[in-house]
Amino acid sequence: MSFNKERDKKAFFLLGFVEIILISFLISSTLYLVYIVLLFYSHEIGHIMGGLANDVLTGKQIQNYTISNWIPSPFSGLSMPQQTHIEGQGSALFIIGGIYSTMITVGIICYIIYKILYFKIKNWILYLILLIPIFTAIQQFNDNFICGTDNPIHQPFPICNDNFFIFSFLHYNGYLLIALFFIIIFSIFLDYLPYLIDKILVFKGYTADYL
Ligand SMILES: [Zn+2]
Repeated sequence: MSFNKERDKKAFFLLGFVEIILISFLISSTLYLVYIVLLFYSHEIGHIMGGLANDVLTGKQIQNYTISNWIPSPFSGLSMPQQTHIEGQGSALFIIGGIYSTMITVGIICYIIYKILYFKIKNWILYLILLIPIFTAIQQFNDNFICGTDNPIHQPFPICNDNFFIFSFLHYNGYLLIALFFIIIFSIFLDYLPYLIDKILVFKGYTADYL
């Protein structure tokens, strides 16, 4: 076996490139499933918190809020709350509580992740993490206010089916988010690839490029 550093480097780079595509896709898909569970929990908890806040602020008797529907989550054995039941008419805070709670929860989590990663990796791609809460806000407003029941008329607005963009976003926003996760994760890995390949080459007996 002859030693050829440039040839080995190219081979490892290609192999590493394909592998980080696969790994990034796997991580972004899994992250998306975790995100969905987080979305459902924070949304329904937000309805309850909004309802309770309304009861306290208006001095009314605290009402009984119950989760009236649980659906299976992408993770076997774990259910997600899908609907909160209340006797009579829900207050405005109860209705919008779900959307706001989800936006705030995702915003805080993304900001913490951004801060932690930025401390270790100074890569501009990390700014894309801050797009996730904006995306979530649009998604929540679209899915629950325009195309859901978290609005004053308690049913989807007609524009939900009539408007092509709103309709498409409702059905395909998951793919957009996975793509966003993928771009972020893949870029971080790609940044580290030359160092990783250098380590492998050193292990094979070559001299290091990065010290
Ligand atoms: Zn809701």
